[in-house]
Amino acid sequence: SADCNENKVFYQAMEEVIYSIAPLLESDERYRQNSIIERLVVPDRVIKFKVVWMDDNQNIQVNTGYRVQFNNALGPYKGGLRFHPTVNEGVLKFLAFEQIFKNSLTGLPIGGGKGGSDFDPKGKSDFEVMKFCSAFMTELHKYIGARIDVPAGDIGVGAREIGYLFGEYKKITSSYDGILTGKPFMFGGSLMRPEATGYGLIYFTQTMLELEEKEPLAGKICTVSGSGNVALHAIEKLYHLGAIPVSCSDSRGTIHDPKGVDLELLKEMKFVRRVSLEDYVDTHPDAKYIPKEDYPEEAHAVWDIPCYAAFPCATQNELTGMDAQNLIANGVEVVAEGANMPSTPKAINDFLSHKICFAPAKAANAGGVAVSEFEMAQNAAMGKWSFEKVDERLKTTMQQIAKRVVLTAQDYGVDGNYVDGANIAGFKRVADAMIAEGI
Ligand code: NDP
Repeated sequence: SADCNENKVFYQAMEEVIYSIAPLLESDERYRQNSIIERLVVPDRVIKFKVVWMDDNQNIQVNTGYRVQFNNALGPYKGGLRFHPTVNEGVLKFLAFEQIFKNSLTGLPIGGGKGGSDFDPKGKSDFEVMKFCSAFMTELHKYIGARIDVPAGDIGVGAREIGYLFGEYKKITSSYDGILTGKPFMFGGSLMRPEATGYGLIYFTQTMLELEEKEPLAGKICTVSGSGNVALHAIEKLYHLGAIPVSCSDSRGTIHDPKGVDLELLKEMKFVRRVSLEDYVDTHPDAKYIPKEDYPEEAHAVWDIPCYAAFPCATQNELTGMDAQNLIANGVEVVAEGANMPSTPKAINDFLSHKICFAPAKAANAGGVAVSEFEMAQNAAMGKWSFEKVDERLKTTMQQIAKRVVLTAQDYGVDGNYVDGANIAGFKRVADAMIAEGI
């Protein structure tokens, strides 16, 4: 049915968590006695609203807006806003559900939520994006607050959109509150928030490699998918460490540049001109552009490139079973997820059964939300932290998450399975808080 289709990714995320924590439910009767699973899989509330705005041609446009407030046992609801035509309630429930465990893993006081709209910022003028953001916030402002629910960016929502959303909130409420994170630095943003998810992903991977006694990333060929906020900052940190990131992609195609991708050009193309990756080869004739139409069947060109480490940083289910087979055949040793749930269940099974070092999103990409929480702390104290302080805390947080995940996997007899390690560690903190807070 349509409902089932829409909720497919939500059920996929839910099934993975329940499967992982089954031994815990078996061994600790408190979770069963308190009906934790039944309570945890239903969001506290799903807010759905109409967003009406006027485009540059004076045509009235109608979109749907959402905020899923899933669980606030550990702190205010926290999670991004996604503006993309594929957004629907099921996608946001999946993202908010994942966010609960990710936020729990950080050890910070934040609950899980997610929101967004089916609005597509691509091809819209700045003025149209502003009009849309204003209309979206006209409704959303009723449900958020610095101690209630603090949204951030996600796909299609960067500093520009956060700025317009914040401006509208301030206009409606006259309140200069930290109700959004990912704000530009000049009005309450934290240094390093844009870099946080991508940098955090690489810090996490480094720690995991150390714990696994595997070779570090320096000098290694790495593949990255996506070319947005997460992907480009992951590429940046890989360069800092002396690795060689040779790819990136967008929804239309993939770049393979064997010498290492030109990061400055990519930033300019994606953050300033907002154009397709196709233009890259104009100035880099040695690189290859593979349009989507030429991808292998049921697979993606980016995962066909031989590499030591692969970092999916675009979107959900972008790394299929076939992609996993190709990566494994080409000798991949590490796969760390920058995007949310980018690997299909089949791909994850293949990685785990081939003993590939696999870092699941809810642990590996938690750096963004961690720095968002640092932004909340700075806003609450009306203060600013230095770049070095944020970076140091981010690094420590990612190292702690990696250790927590690795040790939990060992404690529960699933050594090396960081999917289970992350799910169990994330679940325990939330579930224990829910029990302590009563029904
Ligand atoms: P951006 O909007 O900055 O970039 C998204 C990138 O993914 C773009 O290159 C986009 O290409 C590509 N993409 C989107 N949809 C598809 C698709 N269906 N097929 C192929 N490529 C696609 O988003 P972010 O970088 O912020 O987010 C990327 C992922 O990371 C998401 O899963 C997000 O939930 C996750 N994430 C983000 C965090 C953050 O701090 N921003 C925090 C934690 C997780 P195109 O421009 O052509 O659409």
